[in-house]
Amino acid sequence: MKRTEKRIQSTLDAFNVIGETEEGIQRIAYTHNEKEAQVLFAYLCKKEGMDIKVDAVGNVIARREGRFRSAPAVAVGSHVDTVYTGGRFDGIAGVVAGLEVVRRLNEKNIRTDYPVEIIAFTSEESSRFGMSTIGSKAMTGKLSIEQAVKQKDKDGVSLAEAMKHYNFDIANVNEAIRSKTELHSFLELHIEQGPELEKQNKKIAIATGIAAPTRLCVNVKGMAAHSGTTSMANRKDALIAASQLVIMIEKFAQEESLHKTVATVGVFEVFPGAMNVVPGDVEFKVDIRGLNTASKHRIVERIKEEARAVESSRGVDIEVDIIGDEQPVLLDEGIRQVLLDACKDLGMDPMVFPSGAGHDAMNMQSVCPTGLIFVPSHNGISHNPEEFTAIEDIALGCDLLEKCVLELSMEREINNAKTSG
Ligand SMILES: [Zn+2]
Repeated sequence: MKRTEKRIQSTLDAFNVIGETEEGIQRIAYTHNEKEAQVLFAYLCKKEGMDIKVDAVGNVIARREGRFRSAPAVAVGSHVDTVYTGGRFDGIAGVVAGLEVVRRLNEKNIRTDYPVEIIAFTSEESSRFGMSTIGSKAMTGKLSIEQAVKQKDKDGVSLAEAMKHYNFDIANVNEAIRSKTELHSFLELHIEQGPELEKQNKKIAIATGIAAPTRLCVNVKGMAAHSGTTSMANRKDALIAASQLVIMIEKFAQEESLHKTVATVGVFEVFPGAMNVVPGDVEFKVDIRGLNTASKHRIVERIKEEARAVESSRGVDIEVDIIGDEQPVLLDEGIRQVLLDACKDLGMDPMVFPSGAGHDAMNMQSVCPTGLIFVPSHNGISHNPEEFTAIEDIALGCDLLEKCVLELSMEREINNAKTSG
């Protein structure tokens, strides 16, 4: 193992001592374990000569000054919290990668023109409060206080109380907002949490954007009847009607696959749910994701159309409700090009695809040009103690991150900027 790989490994291990349980890693939002990881992060950054600031929601911002003190910062980072039975890489890999980059800059005595920051976001996972990316939402002005005050965990503890415990006032979350003039760019390294890189035997992916879900709740109303005495001709079987619709949803998504749109029916309930009763009602939920809003909406329209066709052919009533329609986030093309050029220089052959999961990067894009780097997840497993990414792969991600941080944090000669566009 190379020296830098050993360093990455031991830093990761130091974080993963915190919250280690038999069921996996547990560093839940606004708990002692998350706090302890933040304290360790601050300590390690201080050791590298960085200045530490904790903002109004608990994001920890470590800063390495550049030659131009008032210049906007090139920031890297991710989150230190986990789900209840989390793995050793989700979130923390990106924070450790940021530390590794700063350690290398220090070793090489490199003074950047712009400041370099590592941000350890708080509460990225929605496990506790049902609300994700609380830290980066707050930093980018997307955290609605009205919404936030309603959030409670499963023990009835409100987000406001949990924050109060660490001396943060939910009324002041907007003090965490950073302006476009403070941040030059943001780069997040994250494990893929999917199988694509490993399947293609590649080491790096550059995300084009973050797919957002459009969600439907579909209610099919037929007629419950005795399963023995109701002839096949006299049935209004809600389950059969719903099934027909589900099969078509797969087909519609397959037909939109060139836009990389996906659709899933993951919740399906049959009422009354008895062996001897023809199903009278079915409720199912559809999750449609992609970067292309028009493509997502085409699937919704086709589902509605198909619902009307099934209604008339089977004599059932079908209601299709849109329960969520989030906008996908496109990440900055300029940053993507910087990442792609750096890959080329480093002899890496990256994949380019959208992220199916949400990340802090999706919020940061609204404040500054943002890029998202994926490293492989073994078998695509995540949010699970089995989560695994090889240290060599994280180290390759660090090489890319380091190169891009340097590229972005150095003032380019005017002539150079002109010729390179
Ligand atoms: Zn994550």
